[in-house]
Amino acid sequence: MVELQSLSATGDVQNYVGGTWKRADGDDGQDVINPATGEELAFVPFSSESDVDDAVASGLEAFEEWSTTPVEARIQPLFELKQLLEDHQEELAELLVQEHGKTLPEARGELRRGIENVEVACGIPSMMQSGSLLNAAPGIDESAVRKPLGVFAAITPFNFPGMIPLWFLPYAVATGNSFILKPSERDPLVAQRMFELIDEAGFPDGVVQLVNGSVDTVNTLLEHEDIAGISFVGSTPVAKHVYETAAAHGKRVQAQGGAKNHIIVTETADLEFAAQKTVASACACAGERCLANDVVVVEEAVYDDFTDLVLEEAESQTVGYGLDDSVDIGALITPEHEQHVRNFIETGISEGAELLLDGRDVTVEGYEDGNFLAPSVFAGLETDMVITREEIFGPVLGLMSVADIDEAIDVLNESQFGNAASLFTGSGLDARKFRHRADVGNLGVNVGTSAPMAFFHFGGQRDSFFGDLHAQGEDMIHFYTDKNVYIERWPDN
Ligand code: NAD
Repeated sequence: MVELQSLSATGDVQNYVGGTWKRADGDDGQDVINPATGEELAFVPFSSESDVDDAVASGLEAFEEWSTTPVEARIQPLFELKQLLEDHQEELAELLVQEHGKTLPEARGELRRGIENVEVACGIPSMMQSGSLLNAAPGIDESAVRKPLGVFAAITPFNFPGMIPLWFLPYAVATGNSFILKPSERDPLVAQRMFELIDEAGFPDGVVQLVNGSVDTVNTLLEHEDIAGISFVGSTPVAKHVYETAAAHGKRVQAQGGAKNHIIVTETADLEFAAQKTVASACACAGERCLANDVVVVEEAVYDDFTDLVLEEAESQTVGYGLDDSVDIGALITPEHEQHVRNFIETGISEGAELLLDGRDVTVEGYEDGNFLAPSVFAGLETDMVITREEIFGPVLGLMSVADIDEAIDVLNESQFGNAASLFTGSGLDARKFRHRADVGNLGVNVGTSAPMAFFHFGGQRDSFFGDLHAQGEDMIHFYTDKNVYIERWPDN
């Protein structure tokens, strides 16, 4: 069991509503399990409609004062929170490994990426300003101002339980809104610990709240008449549902969905470097990343050489418990998800791809109950194969041979998804073609995993994103505010 002060007396995860901890009063819930050891860490009760109502009511009440609190005062708790998150980063990272399964360096990196968003949001006094123009018309000055809107909620996935809530929370409150987080029910403990720190950071009661739950809790949030907007990150079918339902209930929505990402390798690339980055991109976090590039599209002139290098790199990966320093690849989130990835490997074999490296037969000594898979590598991918088209979300990558960069870009543009892509090349012309033609949200050149810094928006197109304003950076300021225009004339007569 995990020991957190905010857990209930029986070890249950709790909600944080109106500045106090309270166990959700819904009838359902689920165990939180360490995916590497099988150990039960806690139980998460799901919130009922009245739990959500209470949180929204507290958020609305807090909004009255918070929205008119001077901006400089609004960012002070965020400075505190940055410090608290940094002071407790190691402890949070260890907790994250225990409930999620990724490795300690991956958990540290994720938290760092989250904290960067707190840092960016501390710049709100400058970022929230809008334009003004003297003499916009004869004797008239005009200016635009941004205003917060009310109570916002974010619904987040299991794969980055430390970082993704921070794509939203700091910007929502810095702009003067109140905010409710509904974390993934599969790994809610990092959010629980972060809210203990939020409690110390000095936000007024009701400004930042935590509501645990699953499908029903999400649907209550989507339909709640007093919620101004919803941010969602998760799988594509749920993202579509969230987008449509929340919009039908009059809300702003941004919904980030699933992905299928590509790496292109041209004959001018540094192949060794590209192979290292390719395997890291596909297999880090056990492949459970929306930015994992697992379709590797290689110019035919270097296809065989590159395949050998990828195999060598993939074979060198060590699999095990994420708290063990020597491990490259940790556990997958649940046994069901591990089976889902295994099914994809079966599918790949049956549709004629060549399985060059089979990661299914892996046991980790001392952790026989863990959900482990070593890297699997397919060759001979075709564009119409299931393993080329669908998100696998496991340490499985496939190689495809193409004639040239133009054909390679066609391959990724034909995908249902448009989350991320990377190009490895030594050619500026190839890079320019990629930049101009690739219809994808996050593009990397000689970068294995194209994750934008917090001061840029996190891209996503086609079925990887529903909405118009993205997570992180300036887009968040637009999402969390409305703009008024003042048109002033003071006749001098
Ligand atoms: P998920 O869609 O199963 O769950 C995400 C959230 O939605 C959770 O909080 C969950 O409680 C809730 N939820 C699940 N099913 C629901 C339903 N039927 N109705 C209402 N709410 C529901 O996603 P996941 O498995 O937690 O996360 C993995 C997915 O998230 C992958 O597809 C991955 O690509 C995607 N993802 C995308 C991004 C991005 O930026 N585009 C980032 C991270 C993860």
